Amino acid sequence: MLPEIVIDLDKIEHNTKVVLDLARQAGVEVVAVTKAFLAEPQIAGAMLRAGIKMLADARIENLEILHRHFPDVPLMLLRLPGLSQVKDTVRLAAVSLNSELKVLRALSEEARRQGKKHRVILMVDLGDLREGIWAENLPEVAAEAMNMDGLVMDGLGVNLACYGGIIPNGDNLGQLVSLAQDLETSSGQKLKVISGGNSASLPLLLTGELPSGINQLRIGEGILLGRETVKRRLLPGAAADAFVLRAEVLESQDKPTVPIGNVGQDAFGETPQFEDKGWRRRAILALGRQDVPPEGISPLDERVKIFGASSDHLIVDITDAPEVGVGSVLEFNVRYAGLLGSMTSPYVHKRFVK
Ligand SMILES: *Cc1c(COP(=O)(O)O)cnc(C)c1O
Repeated sequence: MLPEIVIDLDKIEHNTKVVLDLARQAGVEVVAVTKAFLAEPQIAGAMLRAGIKMLADARIENLEILHRHFPDVPLMLLRLPGLSQVKDTVRLAAVSLNSELKVLRALSEEARRQGKKHRVILMVDLGDLREGIWAENLPEVAAEAMNMDGLVMDGLGVNLACYGGIIPNGDNLGQLVSLAQDLETSSGQKLKVISGGNSASLPLLLTGELPSGINQLRIGEGILLGRETVKRRLLPGAAADAFVLRAEVLESQDKPTVPIGNVGQDAFGETPQFEDKGWRRRAILALGRQDVPPEGISPLDERVKIFGASSDHLIVDITDAPEVGVGSVLEFNVRYAGLLGSMTSPYVHKRFVK
């Protein structure tokens, strides 16, 4: 059924190995992140076959899927646990990322109730302004967290390049390492993990600039799309096409590029603007914003250009690809937004190949 996303499990396994090899040289553990694909077990399975030892997701529902399919694989909860999720967090996750004492106290109580040791990583905000304890408040929070029954303080973590787009470098990641060292000195306790971010930290691995002490990265996009996420360069030897989106042409006709009549608002409340390129052959595909955001995909055939999309239709310029017509299937590469959209849309059919 179309539209479909074709998922090459061998390429995902291969890309996982590329990232693992890169990390191994720097003594870094890779936690594989499954949130961009609803924790689909066949994809997670390909990551595990490549040698991944821990899986991570932002959502309890996805941890539930992973726990059901891989009961022996330790899981990490990436998004801060909500107070309402404490019970499920302790039940499903071996380790969670945290920044709030109130939640840590609740996790501690719940871990004792379930007779478990729950591991926690304290997130530090080093400027990206998403989650994390402000560095000057860390000693106080950590001192209390380290003494909570039922919890084990695994270490510190940071997330960069997400909200604020702050690039990981020797300065901010170095600061994380020195905060960890200070904490080890003041507590007399060794910290096992310093978790240095996501796929935006991969360029530092490539250049050998990852500060020593950082011993874990949490990687999603780097594996799935084979790219680091600062400049979106392909990792050496990685496959860029583990995912390919395919959709069908419903109409193919010559029309002008500027609509006729008075321009008001489009279906999304925006006032559209059009560049006049004269008459072009336009194809309408059965692929809309309910399937994937058009900004997140690009046609594999470089002669095809995207004009725009509505809820159910993608409109492309096929003037330079004259063989394309009604019933043709066009293929697209996905970027992160395109991957997320197509993997989470119920209308995009998932097909696995090896
Ligand atoms: C999503 C996420 C990651 C993985 O990000 P990628 O860019 O896909 O590698 C890592 N850590 C946290 C906390 C996340 O939310």
